[in-house]
Amino acid sequence: MVGLRIYGFTNTPRNLLVGLKKSLDDQYPSLFTPISVHSDLLPIPDEGYDSRRRQYLAGVFLRVLDNHVPANLHGLALVNSDLFVPRLNFIFGLAQLGGNALVALPRLRPSFYQLPSNDALYFQRIVIEAVHELGHVLGLGHCDNYCVMRFSNTLADTDQKPVKYCETCFQKLTQ
Ligand SMILES: [Zn+2]
Ligand SMILES: [Zn+2]
Repeated sequence: MVGLRIYGFTNTPRNLLVGLKKSLDDQYPSLFTPISVHSDLLPIPDEGYDSRRRQYLAGVFLRVLDNHVPANLHGLALVNSDLFVPRLNFIFGLAQLGGNALVALPRLRPSFYQLPSNDALYFQRIVIEAVHELGHVLGLGHCDNYCVMRFSNTLADTDQKPVKYCETCFQKLTQ
């Protein structure tokens, strides 16, 4: 059993970090123990900003996170900046097998698409993406079942995923 620490960067609303901890504690009490929220918000790495794309390079955030997470824990950060990786227009999240993970918030927000704000939907998407990236951290690949580990290319894909791992994936995690 391994601990998880949840991090934010300077522009991440703290209530989302606390809410995510509660949600993970409630839904997956045995996957990560304990789950904590890091007290300080991490500095946004300005060197990751691409002014032409108006986005940040995700790997630079992951490096900041790697430098903060104690070796015996996994870290998950909610990043309130639009992220990309080379060859992709944007990403919802990024994970390193056995390491740490990020979830990018802006494109999960209905207002990003000029839709009315919906905090419940926004938060549900955050939890789905977090549980998905944590699955990758713990060694899961993408899954074709009705499962949180389905690949999502678009927000519509994300909205069709359950927040749960399917039976097959959950068994792999708890082996
Ligand atoms: Zn994935
Ligand atoms: Zn699955």
